[in-house]
Amino acid sequence: MPWWRRKQPVAVSRVSKTKSPFSETVRVKPDKTGVVTDGVKHSMNPFCEIAVEEAVRLKEKKLVSEVVAVSCGPQQCQETIRTALAMGADRGLHVEVPAKEYESLSPFQVSKILAALAKKEGVNLLLLGKQAIDDDCNQTGQMTAAFLDWPQGTFASQVTLDGDWLKVEREVDGGLETVRLKLPAVVTADLRLNEPRYATLPNIMKAKKKKIEVVKPSDLGVELTPRVTIVSVEDPPQRKAGVKVETVEDLVAKLRESGRI
Ligand code: AMP
Repeated sequence: MPWWRRKQPVAVSRVSKTKSPFSETVRVKPDKTGVVTDGVKHSMNPFCEIAVEEAVRLKEKKLVSEVVAVSCGPQQCQETIRTALAMGADRGLHVEVPAKEYESLSPFQVSKILAALAKKEGVNLLLLGKQAIDDDCNQTGQMTAAFLDWPQGTFASQVTLDGDWLKVEREVDGGLETVRLKLPAVVTADLRLNEPRYATLPNIMKAKKKKIEVVKPSDLGVELTPRVTIVSVEDPPQRKAGVKVETVEDLVAKLRESGRI
C-alpha cells in the first residue's frame, strides 16, 4: 500500500491517575463492585502517548498519510482523543461505550472493537500502548492481533517500517529481541520507544478544530456482553507493623522464631 493511502490508527485509553506520583489513593466502592473513579483525575495512558508519538513520527517521515486516534469509552474519552490530536494526530474516532457498560469493558471487547475497525478502515498497522496503567492488563494488543490473525510486535523499543515489512526491537526478560513482521501487524509501545512531545499551545488550539467521529460498538458489529463477572473488589489486608531489631543476632533470632530460616 503506498504511504499516501496509509491510515495509521493508534489506540488511546483514558486512565485514572491513581498510580502517578501525584496520585490519589485507590478507594474501593462501598458496594465492592469496583474502585471509585468519580472525582478522580484522568489522563492519557503514558504508553499510549508513546504510541501516538510513534504514529506522528511515521507521518513526519512520510511513511503514513494520516494518524487516527481511537478511544473506546464514555464521553470523557474525547478529552483523551483531543490530547492525541494536540500531539499531531489528524482525526479522532470515539467508540462510545456508556459509563455503565464501560465499567465491565475488558480487553476482550476493546480488542474486538479495534479488530473490527482495522478491517473497516483497511489499515495495515495498528499501534497501541503495551498496557494501561490502571488495570495493568497488558492484553489488548495481543488479543487484537489474535482476532485479526496478524503478527504482533509487543513491548516495542524500536520500530522500523520498510515497505511491507516492519522490524521491531522488543524488550524481553533476557534483553532485546528483534522480530521482522510482514504487514499487516499489531505493535505495542514500550517505555523506551521514544519520548513523547508536549502539546504546544497553538497545537492545543488547532486540535479543538480537528474532527472526532463518534460510532457505537454495534455499528462495528461488536456486542459488549461481559465475559467476566466481578464477584467482589476488596482492599488489600492492612500491613502489620514491623519489628525493630538492634543487632544482626537479634534479627537472626527473630527470623528463627518465626520459622523463616
Ligand atoms: P491493556 O491491555 O488494558 O493493558 O491496554 C493496552 C493498550 O490497549 C492501551 O495502552 C491502549 O493502547 C489500548 N486500549 C486499552 N483500552 C482501550 C480503550 N478503552 N480504548 C482505546 N484503546 C484502549
